[in-house]
Amino acid sequence: TEPLLTVEDLGMTFPGPRAGLGRRAGIKAVDGVSFEVRPGETLGLVGESGCGKSTTGRMLVRLLDPTAGQVAFQGKDITRTTQRELRPLRRKFQMIFQDPFASLNPRQTVQQIIAAPLRAQDTPAAEINREVRDLVRLVGLAPEHLDRYPHQFSGGQAQRIGIARALATRPELVVADEPVSALDVSIQAQIVGLMERLQRELGVAYVFIAHDLAVVKHISHRVAVMYLGRIVEIGDKHEVYANPAHPYTKALLSAVPLPDPAAERARERIVLLGDPPSPANPPSGCTFHPRCPKAQPICRTERPLLQITPVGGSRQAACHFPEA
Ligand code: SF4
Ligand code: MG
Repeated sequence: TEPLLTVEDLGMTFPGPRAGLGRRAGIKAVDGVSFEVRPGETLGLVGESGCGKSTTGRMLVRLLDPTAGQVAFQGKDITRTTQRELRPLRRKFQMIFQDPFASLNPRQTVQQIIAAPLRAQDTPAAEINREVRDLVRLVGLAPEHLDRYPHQFSGGQAQRIGIARALATRPELVVADEPVSALDVSIQAQIVGLMERLQRELGVAYVFIAHDLAVVKHISHRVAVMYLGRIVEIGDKHEVYANPAHPYTKALLSAVPLPDPAAERARERIVLLGDPPSPANPPSGCTFHPRCPKAQPICRTERPLLQITPVGGSRQAACHFPEA
């Protein structure tokens, strides 16, 4: 099948701080990111804070204009189109945000919030009312919630409103930027479960952004791991979780709790030294080398390319010494 979304060599360079009278050096928040999203699938996009995953997510739905590369939606480049040209496509890709309260207008009722994307598409009023009632039920809320304001809801319920709004135009792609990170752990599984059910019912594809591999394990079909603005490993979920090729993926996975307590006790935890370096001053060669337990001299000088590894499978990793 044709990919829904094709991302090619995407980059975002922010202007850096002024150093004296010198030229302002750019900060590469996202650098050379390429991947595809197929219709109806979930791609998990994972990495520590500051790795560029949210910036990438915002560029996918054109909330942010990339400084390099392109994003094609159903074969049409959406990175350089005017907002006017983009308008008929807008309904097909939507976003869910991390903090539901910050992303919902506190002065609007649930009815107004969910209706807004439909109004923007000039949907007739009678149809809007019917759609909004369907949508609140679809996300597990009740029609009597429609006259209330966001502050009258719990975090989990507020995120359900955010999901209903994102689905209002029946999009084919939803980019969800850490949609459960701000919620109680007990609520997180409910929201992820809701998103899975909606995917089955509506066939929507997700790019599900998270800072750890535990959250996206169940929902993802494929996963991409980002480090300092680049993808370091990408591929089928089963390959990546069962047999990670990149030492960074391996370290992130060692923090995912195992359901079997004996396996959990027996497994080796890999604790990464230090914080991720600043994208303003990235390390040479493989940017992961200062924290990598397997680093060799070549890692300091040569940047590894993202490619199929001898480890096997179709997953790609950017490492000179992929894990067996
Ligand atoms: Fe570690 Fe070298 Fe692989 Fe980078 S290229 S992840 S430093 S082994
Ligand atoms: Mg973020």
